Amino acid sequence: AKQAGRNTLRFFDPAMQSRLQHRARLEADLRKALPNNELVLYYQAQVNAAGTPTGYEALLRWVHPLRGMISPGEFIPLAEENRLIIEIGAWVLETACRQLVAWADDPSKATLTLAVNISPVQFHEPDFVERVMQILERTGASPRYLKLELTESLLVEAQQQAREKMLRLKQTGLSFSLDDFGTGYSSLAYLTQLPLDQLKIDQSFVRHLLDDLANAAIVESTIGLSHSLGLEVIAEGVETEAQRAWLIEHHCHAFQGYLFAPPLPLESL
Ligand code: C2E
Ligand code: CA
Ligand code: CA
Ligand code: CA
Repeated sequence: AKQAGRNTLRFFDPAMQSRLQHRARLEADLRKALPNNELVLYYQAQVNAAGTPTGYEALLRWVHPLRGMISPGEFIPLAEENRLIIEIGAWVLETACRQLVAWADDPSKATLTLAVNISPVQFHEPDFVERVMQILERTGASPRYLKLELTESLLVEAQQQAREKMLRLKQTGLSFSLDDFGTGYSSLAYLTQLPLDQLKIDQSFVRHLLDDLANAAIVESTIGLSHSLGLEVIAEGVETEAQRAWLIEHHCHAFQGYLFAPPLPLESL
């Protein structure tokens, strides 16, 4: 193999081969995750200034039979590449809607909102709107308490199409949150053109709120922008009391982060 030249040698690179094998195995396992009931939703509280939960974000977990808990950061990109995310995403939405129905029967939980992450791959499917409507109908969940979290990248690509889909979904009564706000690279014009309800300040900005002036300036502007546009604003990744105090002082009154609660299984809420 030593004489085979650089290009050929790469094929025998044991590290790369093992990475490819690992990926292929993960992909094969992921195909079985849904039918084998290995996917679960965790729920992270979204709280108001008093620290009271007003709703939750549903966060997907894969309990692999051999490897244990696998984080979405590891398997969602894979599921997007092979389009499994379309079925997985539908399952997430349906499970979340069933949870809303269960809460609706409990007076202390009936007004909790549930935010669900939507992958761009899922959103761009031609029948995305119909599927969401079917799930709402089938489960009987009230759209009023359902929030779909979209990312900027999704809105940049095919803005007119995205807008039309969002408008149709808005008619059901559900709401939209723009996740990871500020991490994209788009113009801000879409903020006025899309039927958004909430901006979610990305945790990367919250993390350096108190030690980086530029970061603080971005967060302050985002809060101001939200208020001017009549949007709700929520900060994610809030980990310290100092961050919470700063945010309140700067008129952000909704938070999510380890300071309040980590994502938890339903039984632990
Ligand atoms: P995200 O939507 O930005 O979710 C926030 C992530 O930050 C979650 O990671 C959450 O556990 C974590 N987090 C919450 N509070 C804190 C905190 O105080 N500090 C820090 N450092 N992190 C915090 P998680 O659950 O691993 O999810 C990662 C990403 O995977 C999510 O980022 C989202 O993009 C994606 N994801 C999760 N569930 C779904 C899903 O059902 N569908 C789709 N399409 N994507 C999902
Ligand atoms: Ca999210
Ligand atoms: Ca986020
Ligand atoms: Ca994120």
